Amino acid sequence: MKEFKSESKRLLELMINSIYTNKEIFLRELISNSSDALDKRKFLSLTNDKASADFEIVISLDKDARTITIKDSGIGMDESDLEENLSTIAKSGTLAFKQKIAKENPKDAGQIGQFGVGFYSAFMVAKKIEVVSKKFDSKEIFLWTSYGVDGYDIKKVSSTQLSEKQSLLLDKNGGITIILTLHDDDDDFRYSQFLNDDTIEELVKKYSDYIRYPIRLEETIEVEVVEKNSKETKNSKKQKAKANETKPPLNSMIPIWKKPKSKVKEEELNEFYMTEFSDFSPPLKHIFASMEGTISYNTLLFIPSKLSDEFMRGEKISYGLKLYCEGVLVMEKCSDVLPEYLSFVKGLVDSSDLPLNISREILQHTKHLKIISRSLEKKILDEFRKTLDNDRELYEKIWREFGTALKFGSYEHFGVRKDSLKDLLLFNSSHENKLTTLKEYVERAGVSQEYIYYAVGESAEKIKKSVHCGAVLERGYEVLFLHDKIDEFVMKVLMEYGEKKFLPVTSPDAVELSNDEKDELLKEEDTAKELLTFIKTHLKGKIFDVRLSTKILDHATSLTSEGEITIEMEKVLGSVPSPNSKLQPPKAKKILLINPNHSVFQKMQQALKDDHSLLRNYSDLLLSLAMLGVGLPVDGGELSELVQRTI
Ligand code: ADP
Repeated sequence: MKEFKSESKRLLELMINSIYTNKEIFLRELISNSSDALDKRKFLSLTNDKASADFEIVISLDKDARTITIKDSGIGMDESDLEENLSTIAKSGTLAFKQKIAKENPKDAGQIGQFGVGFYSAFMVAKKIEVVSKKFDSKEIFLWTSYGVDGYDIKKVSSTQLSEKQSLLLDKNGGITIILTLHDDDDDFRYSQFLNDDTIEELVKKYSDYIRYPIRLEETIEVEVVEKNSKETKNSKKQKAKANETKPPLNSMIPIWKKPKSKVKEEELNEFYMTEFSDFSPPLKHIFASMEGTISYNTLLFIPSKLSDEFMRGEKISYGLKLYCEGVLVMEKCSDVLPEYLSFVKGLVDSSDLPLNISREILQHTKHLKIISRSLEKKILDEFRKTLDNDRELYEKIWREFGTALKFGSYEHFGVRKDSLKDLLLFNSSHENKLTTLKEYVERAGVSQEYIYYAVGESAEKIKKSVHCGAVLERGYEVLFLHDKIDEFVMKVLMEYGEKKFLPVTSPDAVELSNDEKDELLKEEDTAKELLTFIKTHLKGKIFDVRLSTKILDHATSLTSEGEITIEMEKVLGSVPSPNSKLQPPKAKKILLINPNHSVFQKMQQALKDDHSLLRNYSDLLLSLAMLGVGLPVDGGELSELVQRTI
């Protein structure tokens, strides 16, 4: 007897002791595994005759022995597959489940059964599980047995060693036979309900109707007699086989995406999504479409409720849609049918127009996939546009999760997609602290406003307090609040919207002065020429220029910049670790602004006359304060020393 790995053991314990009432989902899970195994084999059979078989799933019930037997003619597993797949939790569904319970209180795991919990869910109903397995291209048969947490056994067996029930379904094809011996009924749960034909039929219809392979219920086995050569047994075997042929499958076998849209209920789609894509929550939105064109295809797409954990952790994830060709699953994750920025979209594409001489390598390069990709992208963006127009609340939910991805799409490749994406972008704004589209902003701004103002910062509160933003807000302009690192790059790529240029509030052009104000400032600048030159010379290398400004409210000083790299960009670029440490990230051309109406200005004028060392201190101090004000890093020790020298 081998032990399960400790984490698998813990999961098993949870399964077995689960007070979860929806134990019935074990059937869906096992059928779904069988269907996957059949998919794999069917794919192989296109190029390998040995792999062809009667692709089907057969269930049989034995009331006396309390067993449910599920057989498929799928790809099967050899010894190492069994070890790897059934004896440790390393696979998608169960792994996701494990992560979920690790995060949450296991006692609350009440909803687990709604999701892909995989093979182990069978332990919710079975005290013993036997898996008889023969890989399609092998003669060897293995028997995997487990009574639950204690561990499992794998042994090689010959067909003569198997009981009738074990061998019965492992006939010509190979594949997997799973025999579940159910728990005894107790006060809490009547396990024997699963030994009833009608119950099984109902469950298959409820959860597995869309499975593309026939699921048959074999005639109930009354007694298990293994008497070789007994005439009676042979007869009963024959009867069973006959019953098989005539009984129609329990499932309609019409994949959910091939059913008429009106016939598919939302719950069905949600169930389908959660099982097929191992998610714990229903999707925010589905897109169900059948497209006609150069290439015709059916598609069923889902917008998950959350960014995946891998994505959050910044791991490189493989993405893509399931690709079916004439009902055969050709590729589990085909990334060629989706542009990368839409990698959060899950779902499938089924087309009979793909070349059937399938080799995955060749397929990857076919132009068909490009055509599908373009048409899918268009479809998805159209659906987003409709959602934005008709269900703002839902769109904002989608935006909160995946907005960054859409922004990335609008900005990558120098903005080739900006026109199709710009109307889908949302921004926080000073207008009622709500999310706004650019169209809405421009409508509110009216024709006379020249720019679309934006300010960058961690939070709306912080931005509003900043000097530059305050000055723009004071003049009654609406300001977009950008919190995302890539936002400013998006602005650069978009350049303008509705004939209004984007302008950072820190730009010298952000606030227009009246003619009188301008005259006044020019005069001041004239008299302060000597002072400004002194400061500029002293701060050489650190700043590009020094100017007087009355646009910074009542602050003494601030920073702005000129040219392509803004101060916000300098911050972002500085925070990205450079692969070559010798390469300095580009810096903004900084302009130190001094408020001539502030008392420090008079003090500096005075110092210019009688105390140059004090003036140097003032200049250093102003620069430090200005840097702090816009969120650039300042050495605390130096600043402290400087302040003490100056006051
Ligand atoms: P998941 O289905 O989410 O990957 P499971 O725990 O249900 O997780 O199954 C683990 C693995 O065992 C599967 O990924 C598959 O490789 C293998 N497996 C399960 N059932 C079958 C089957 N009927 N035929 C072949 N392989 C199977």
